[in-house]
Amino acid sequence: MTGEQRMRTVAEHLAAALALVDPVPPVETPLAAALGGWLSQDVASGQDLPRWDNSAMDGYAVRAADTADAGLRPVRLAVIADLPAGSAQVPVVESGTAARIMTGAPVPPGADAIVPVEATDGGTSTVLICAAAPAGAHIRRVGEDLHMGDLVVSADTRLGARHLAAIASVGVATVMVRRRPVVAVVSTGSELVPAGAALGRGQIPDSNSVLLAAAVSSTGCTVERVGGVADDPAAFSRVLAELDGAVDLIVTSGGVSMGAYEVVREVLGVLPTMAFVQVAMQPGKPQGLGTLPGGTPILCLPGNPVSAFVSFEVFVRPVLDCLAGRPDGPVGVLRATVDDEWRTPPGRAQYMPVVVTGPERDLRARRSVPGGSGSHLVAGLARADGLVIVPSDVERVHAGDQLDLVRTP
Ligand code: AMP
Ligand code: MG
Repeated sequence: MTGEQRMRTVAEHLAAALALVDPVPPVETPLAAALGGWLSQDVASGQDLPRWDNSAMDGYAVRAADTADAGLRPVRLAVIADLPAGSAQVPVVESGTAARIMTGAPVPPGADAIVPVEATDGGTSTVLICAAAPAGAHIRRVGEDLHMGDLVVSADTRLGARHLAAIASVGVATVMVRRRPVVAVVSTGSELVPAGAALGRGQIPDSNSVLLAAAVSSTGCTVERVGGVADDPAAFSRVLAELDGAVDLIVTSGGVSMGAYEVVREVLGVLPTMAFVQVAMQPGKPQGLGTLPGGTPILCLPGNPVSAFVSFEVFVRPVLDCLAGRPDGPVGVLRATVDDEWRTPPGRAQYMPVVVTGPERDLRARRSVPGGSGSHLVAGLARADGLVIVPSDVERVHAGDQLDLVRTP
């Protein structure tokens, strides 16, 4: 088309989007509130773990030498102490004596082996030992889990229950994690009503608010869902003014194409800090991005549901990863063999929603809406567990072609 600016590539638009955000700062967080957070610095251990030699069995702490012949002829030892887990007593086990001991209690001085209760008569004043215990038997050694100074959990780990348990076990109560980014989701369109509400002629359920809020929230961000805003510049401006400075990112849908009533473009297109551009992709060609006067970054996606979905995967998800301070994802791209064929728009990378089947080493893909690549085919998204990426210089996809695949769980 003459007079039209060169379209941006997907990579160029993604770079512009990533340049809008920095990772949110880390804050000191109690373990109970840190689940799902991304650790921003290594946690090292301030001590050995286990902290001391302790019993691996319920039984008796003894001198191994005293039990050497117990397998042939049981030996009787005097029980000089009772050591449940948590006991602070420090009895000394001399030759001819034993201390009753429970799992986890420190091995008392003098003792060098544990006889399990099953190999004794279970006595409390004296005990009959019926099996020899070699030196070191059933003793958990100090430092066998980790040593002082060892790494417990490394930076850039998303903290799950097992990480938190390991951190707690070395006596650490708080960790540095980035707070969850707060993301506002705003759908524009005078035709939109909340899902389930009665529809007048021309009205449709606002599925993009549901899509984007759920997609944002599944990445671990906190969503401020604004829902639908009419194609009314004053109303839209009011919503933005409230969010500007109060959230980490705003994501809008709709109102960015070339027609009339494009409220997002109309209100924001006048700001020098905003850009409304054509990206060489299908769907998702019209895109906007920039910064509001209060400094809040904003990504403006097209309104067609499949366009909004693809735009989320291609632009919003990487921006959320950056905001959250998540390290770059795995570089390896999946490949899939196409069991389908279709024509694609020349000069634009196509992101085709597909149904993915087969094992990881032989992934197969076919369009989730047979015969359709329309950006309005919202119900087909429910079947699309992947997007195949058709390069911009390809005009026809053939059965058997190998294409890059993005999984969309
Ligand atoms: P727009 O980008 O605003 O021109 O919208 C393009 C198409 O997507 C129109 O058919 C809209 O009705 C539809 N659409 C826009 N926003 C939404 C939404 N939030 N939920 C469902 N469909 C939408
Ligand atoms: Mg609209």
